[in-house]
Amino acid sequence: MVVVLDKDITAREKDDLRAFLTERGFQVREVVGEDETIFGAVGSGGIDHREVAMQAGVARVVPISKPYKLASREFKRSDSVFPVGSVKVGGNRVVIIGGPCAVESRDHILECADIVAAAGGVILRGGAFKPRTSPYSFQGLGREGLQYLREAGDRYGLAVISEIVSPLQVPEMRDFVDVFQIGARNMQNYELLKTVGAERYPVMLKRGLAATIEEWLMAAEYLLAHGAEDVILCERGIRTFETYTRNSLDISSIPVVKKLSHLPVFVDPSHATGLRDQVIPVGLAAIAAGADGLIVEVHPDPPNAASDGPQSLYPEQFEKLMRDIEALSPVVGREVARLPVRMPGGSAGVATLVSGMPDTATPDSPLTVAFQGARGAYSEIALLRHFDEGAREIVPRSCDRFRQVFEAVLSGEAGCGIIPLENSLMGSIHENYDLLLQYPDIRVTGETHIRIEHSLIGTPDSSLESIRTVISQAPGIEQCRDFLDSHPEWTVQPYYDTAGSVAHVRDAADPTLAAIANARTAEFYGMKILRQGIETNPRNYTRFAILAREDRSTPAADADMATLVFSTPDKPGALYECMRILAERELNLKKLESRPILGQPWRYMFYVDVELPGSETQFAEAFAALEAETHDLRLLGTFKGSRGF
Ligand code: PEP
Ligand code: MN
Repeated sequence: MVVVLDKDITAREKDDLRAFLTERGFQVREVVGEDETIFGAVGSGGIDHREVAMQAGVARVVPISKPYKLASREFKRSDSVFPVGSVKVGGNRVVIIGGPCAVESRDHILECADIVAAAGGVILRGGAFKPRTSPYSFQGLGREGLQYLREAGDRYGLAVISEIVSPLQVPEMRDFVDVFQIGARNMQNYELLKTVGAERYPVMLKRGLAATIEEWLMAAEYLLAHGAEDVILCERGIRTFETYTRNSLDISSIPVVKKLSHLPVFVDPSHATGLRDQVIPVGLAAIAAGADGLIVEVHPDPPNAASDGPQSLYPEQFEKLMRDIEALSPVVGREVARLPVRMPGGSAGVATLVSGMPDTATPDSPLTVAFQGARGAYSEIALLRHFDEGAREIVPRSCDRFRQVFEAVLSGEAGCGIIPLENSLMGSIHENYDLLLQYPDIRVTGETHIRIEHSLIGTPDSSLESIRTVISQAPGIEQCRDFLDSHPEWTVQPYYDTAGSVAHVRDAADPTLAAIANARTAEFYGMKILRQGIETNPRNYTRFAILAREDRSTPAADADMATLVFSTPDKPGALYECMRILAERELNLKKLESRPILGQPWRYMFYVDVELPGSETQFAEAFAALEAETHDLRLLGTFKGSRGF
């Protein structure tokens, strides 16, 4: 039964109720939901529900009608969401597991992990104990295979899953896997279910070759009843009379099970079809039908795979499948789970994106600062201004894209980065807010702002009279609209970058061409300032964040600002509650920005800038209180603010 607790139940009443139920033979599990907290009580003890309903602190009692109790939606109305490695499974996410049927060698699984991570998979599969139909077929590398699998997962930041076929393997596997896989052939091996359940590890439970949905859910119940909480169900095709496919994928089981159970449902299109040509369409169909993820076999050389070659995708097919899933997921309200971009060492894929020597973090060595744009960009001007105040020599490093600024900081190629976050006239630079979320190892360690003052810049032999065409980045053009309108004879053309537009004028050496950019850019490129201060509104400022890797930055002793990000539960007053927490601890709110959560239409992340209170404990308390009221709360950084003038 489900015992829904009163919102204001006391700790004492809760303890008494737990004791009351336990004494009567029930196992009690507390589930804290967004709207209510419940006790799930299961067991063979019979009791009149009305007696439970009369206990202090009980709002109501709902009997669970299904034979599977802990697995049922009656027990838990909201989807189960739980972490596996660095990603979460369940909810609105689509989680892709990829890898070979079996680990064949150390080099083989490392290559597979590279393929999976590069394409965007987040969990690595690989069998070490293979339940093969024939005793003469390859049986797996056993413990050695598990070691290689773990090493490959760790190198690429991927969690790992591998099949367990006997209760005796639990101690051997425990240290190597993040998720135990229970295969179709073992779905009703109750001793295995009990032992694995007691481990309280995440488990993926494949549907048996000839199991009904109810038998499958009862098998999940075994895992849950013995202690597991994080159970993934996996539909992998059932035996039918059909011979053109290895099995028949029961796609309708996805919506059926999702209605009956709160557990995430994955699909294995590889074992379902047995043929690689069918894996992509069937996998996509599963996502469209509401699957929470896929487990897919991929192999660097399928024709020579030790097992299940015909159903293993080639690397480029896996990549295509990932791209198609990326395109499809938002259509069905889903977001594809990605690995957070972590520090090098954790992930070789990241380290190789940016080459160059890491900064030696000694204060008297030069500090490389990455910025986006050509030399002379507003970002470079901001960084020179910000760092000029210190004694250290600064080496600006130009990057084409904002993401490359983050990559350069992450790899250590640059000691710091600088990114624009907000313009006083145009608002936030959303791309950078999104990137801050994707790079959890990077912190905002400082802030600076500059006035945006535009100039018209031409070749040394140009004059206002010789100009026919003006180029600049679209916001630059917009901000000088009045001046440009006073020259209707000029053609105005957008360019990708303000400083880059000056470089273009120099390269073209054309006196009829001019660019709009900061006056200092003219110096960089040896060009002539034709008119300074042409922006319509002189109160035009851009605010920049200074970025550094968390492990290389020490929090500023004079920090007086913090940036936080979180999402809220979908209920009345959720954001109000967060604001109340800040207000009560006297954290002055300086900015509140909402950004759509990718793949979750009409749901938002809130970015909050606050002035820090005098006492550190006040901030720590507010943070802890927010943690309880929000989802995915993160501190993006504390820093010395620069918003005063
Ligand atoms: C597997 O995933 O390698 C496997 C053997 O799958 P199933 O148990 O679904 O046959
Ligand atoms: Mn297989």
